Formats: sequence, structure tokens, C-alpha cells
Amino acid sequence: MKRTNTFALRPLSDNGERLLRELLDASAALWNEINYERLMRYNDEDGFEGDVWDADTGKLEGQYKGVLGASTAQQVIRKNSEAWRSFFRLKNQYHDESNTSVTEHPEPPGFRGNEDDGRQLKTVIRNTSYTVEWGDRSRLEILVGSDLKDKYDHTGRLRLEVVGDPNWPDYEQQGRLDLWYDETDSTFRASQPVAISDETQATPLADEKAALDIGANNLVACTITTGEQFLYEGRELFEQFRATTQEIARLQSLLPEEQYSSQRIRRLYRKRTRRRDHAQAALCRDLIERLYDEGVDTVYIGGLTDVLETHWSVEANAKTHNFWAFKRFTERLATTAEEYGIAIEVRSEAWTSQECPQCGSTDRTHRHQDTLVCQCGFEGHADLTASATFLARQTEQAVRPMAGPVRFQWDSHEWLEMSHSHRPNEQRTDPSTVQRDGNVAAGESA
Ligand SMILES: [Zn+2]
Repeated sequence: MKRTNTFALRPLSDNGERLLRELLDASAALWNEINYERLMRYNDEDGFEGDVWDADTGKLEGQYKGVLGASTAQQVIRKNSEAWRSFFRLKNQYHDESNTSVTEHPEPPGFRGNEDDGRQLKTVIRNTSYTVEWGDRSRLEILVGSDLKDKYDHTGRLRLEVVGDPNWPDYEQQGRLDLWYDETDSTFRASQPVAISDETQATPLADEKAALDIGANNLVACTITTGEQFLYEGRELFEQFRATTQEIARLQSLLPEEQYSSQRIRRLYRKRTRRRDHAQAALCRDLIERLYDEGVDTVYIGGLTDVLETHWSVEANAKTHNFWAFKRFTERLATTAEEYGIAIEVRSEAWTSQECPQCGSTDRTHRHQDTLVCQCGFEGHADLTASATFLARQTEQAVRPMAGPVRFQWDSHEWLEMSHSHRPNEQRTDPSTVQRDGNVAAGESA
């Protein structure tokens, strides 16, 4: 069984941090050099695969092994080769008419960083060139080249403090380590693929299910078979996104004719993307950790395309599509879930976001902002209701939320838990009383 440990790292000294940064920067420089040589050949020769592989990797390895160490220089080059192979594979699939899985022409591998922001600090380390020790004071030690050791007056491997506990401390084998600097929160991070035995993998008690409703105003509404509900609010994040989009449009309107972009516009685009990616990544981690603690082993996600076709307004479509990049989000969620041994299942069957959980009707309901109202008297939080109905469909059992939902708001850095929205008890027992906040016995009368 393959799993991944992801953890934050802390250099032990300023000197150690400078050394690490130089190592990551040199790795990015090597990546860019080899990628440039391959891209030039690719463009000149009109896509003949052989020519890309003619780039002189031996020479580059020789230039960088003093700083990186020979094994890391080789790994960076190998990883670039893998990226090119994957590009050619996708390209073949794109041109293969019997294959419908690739719908957009793939792009050749990109560069690490750009002129404005500098290089993206990132490296990759062979499984025999690093060690991790887990315990009270977990630590990582990585190989560095002799030039860097001399420059920083360092001996042996570079030691870094590991922050937090791994999900999979017991493993039989470790794979190639990715190590990078995450600019969104100024943290060094690593991901360590590990192979674990079947016994380790079998986590008892994890058999709960969860279903997600994904949107723009509420980024994720989640219901778990335990009755727990989570709501990640996205309004402010989206307002920020919209403000940046408007600023981009304003700057574009000021451009001289025949000019389509500017440095400032490109920077705003990147800033917008970075913000969204940061919030998304943090949401995935926060949510998956909570689901793991709840004993969830499977998460169901509704296919957003169906939502778009049936119930959502055009504006909501564009909003969600642009902003959330749904496919990217589910991929990220799946990657994070894999670390915890949680399965993600995307279900593209007809969506039920406007189905009344009380009477089962879909044409007697109306959505007013966040509230779903039905002529039968039902009223509840639309997205939470949708996730509960969806979960009931998938598990074929009634899911009765036991407590008010836990709400989360993004503060530009992390998802903060707002207080549980409280709900008087009598509302749960008296069906004639207006229900709020996902107080829903989904599927009971459907
Ligand atoms: Zn109803």
C-alpha cells in the first residue's frame, strides 16, 4: 500500500536556512536549464521525441553536482524527464481519436518560477539520500553537495526539524522525497511517499461516509454519516477574487492598442491564483483531517457539471468554474485524502440540490440565497441539505444531523472555526416548526 507523509520543516539555524534555500534554488536552476534545452529542441524540431532526449544531461549534472550532490542532480534531471514523458503520453492520447480522456492539448513542462517572482524553491531527493527519524523530536537529514558544505562550513548531512506527527510513521520503504518552500505561508515542506504493510493500513473503525456539496458562496458543505456537518464559507474569498478580477479588467482597458497584457496584470493574475490555491489547499487539509478524526473512509463528491446544467444560473456557473477550478480541487482533495487512506468517489449522477428532504419534491422547492424552502413547510440551509440528501442517496440510509453545523471562515491564513450555530431542541421534534441549518432527516419520506 502506498501512502504519503507530508510535513512542515524548520531549519535549525539561520545558516542552515541559507544553505537550504541555496540548495532549493540551485535545484530549480538546474530544472530550468534542462527544461530550456529540451523545450528549444522540441520547438525547433516540431515535436520529434528523440531530439528532446538529446539534451546534454551529463554536462549539467557535472555543473550542479558540487552544489546539489550527484544523486540530487540526477534526481532533478530524472524528474524533468518524467515530466516530458508524461507530456508526450498526454499528447498522444489527445491526438488519439478513440481516447476521450484528454480533451485539451497538453502543455510542455514549465519552468520553476518566473522573472518577476524569481525561481520557485524546490528539489527532489533520492530515497537513499535522506533519513527521517520519528519521535519526540522528529527530524529529517538530507544530503548536500561538497561546495555548499564548504561555503557554509557544514559537515555531514543537513538536519531539519520536522513539525508535527506523520500519518504513517511505520513503513517498510520510503520513496523519493519532494522538498519545497511554500510561499503562501512561508514554510518549508516535504512529502515522503512510503510503502506500508497491509496490517498497518487496516485502520479499525473507519467505516463512516461523508458527502460534499461544492459551490462558490459556500465552498464546501459536508455531511457525515455520524450526523456531523461542516460548512466552509467562501463569500469573502470570492469577493476578494472578484475585486482582483475587476482590477485586472480595469488595467486591461487602459492598455494601449494591440497590447494584451502587462507585468502588473500578470502579477495580479498570479496573486489571484495563489490566494485561491492557498485557501483550497488549506481547506482540503482541514477537512480531510476532520473526516479522518470522525472515522470516515469514503467521501462522495457530486459531479459539478450536472449541477451546472440543471439548477444553477449561468452566473453561478461561471463563478464556481473560474473560482474553484473544480477539477483541480477534487484532484487536490484526492491527493490529500490518499495520505490518510480515505477514498474519494466522484458521482456524476443526477444531482439533488433542490430536492426537499421532507417530501422528496424537486419542483415545489425554491432557493433563496442560502435557504431551501419547500411548499410542504420545509426550510433549511440549501447546501447542507444538498450534501445530506446526496449522502443519503449514496449510503441508502437516512442521515440525521445530530448537532448544528460547524462553520469555518477563511482569514487569509487558515480556516477558523466559528462557534457552533445553536438550535433549540423543540425545532427538531416538531415538524411544523421551521427548520434551519441543515436540521434535516434526509431521505426519510422520499
Ligand atoms: Zn417538501
